[in-house]
Amino acid sequence: MKVKVVSKILEANDRIADENRKRFKDAGVYVMNLMGAPGAGKTTLLERTIQALKPHLKIGVIEGDIVGTDDAERIGALNVPVVQINTGGACHLDANMISEVLSELPIRELDMLIIENVGNLVCPAEFKVGEDIKMMVLSVAEGHDKPLKYPLMFQESSALVLNKIDLLPYMNTDINKVRRDSLALNPKLQIFEISCTTGTGIDQWAQWLSALRS
Ligand code: MG
Ligand code: ZN
Repeated sequence: MKVKVVSKILEANDRIADENRKRFKDAGVYVMNLMGAPGAGKTTLLERTIQALKPHLKIGVIEGDIVGTDDAERIGALNVPVVQINTGGACHLDANMISEVLSELPIRELDMLIIENVGNLVCPAEFKVGEDIKMMVLSVAEGHDKPLKYPLMFQESSALVLNKIDLLPYMNTDINKVRRDSLALNPKLQIFEISCTTGTGIDQWAQWLSALRS
């Protein structure tokens, strides 16, 4: 019974996600769903990405957090349109939450909309929001066991950012194991090694992102 209830919730979500996808397509905006655990560095990556892409692309952001507006304030400081969703306890964004805030963003003026999901390696991977692609951030401080423990996230993502790569010398993380296990789950996964602190890998990442639109 429980399984049935969950699948019905996901079916209803998928219908709304399809409606969102139509709205995005009509508006000509490319949409990315950025996922990862709390502390992986999603918002910092977003700041660096916006700084790299802003001269070429009009970017908007939806921030998802359980409570608070800190992340939206950080993004707003870069002078891009941003909306904060507070889920009030829910540990992921769903299609309906996105649908409800779309009127607050000038989506027809945007080239790219980036949705930062709630920090969580589990259910954000299950709930479509109408995005063109999902991508995930994993910091090297999280260890090398995550692909095998949270496989769906790695399977659903088109890109994996291995973040905080500058910390690797201080960690016992086997990054080759992360690569191996991630690619075994998802052979098409694009993997980027990035440090938002030193700037390593940001240009390559930004180029890959901007090429997705064309
Ligand atoms: Mg954040
Ligand atoms: Zn959840």
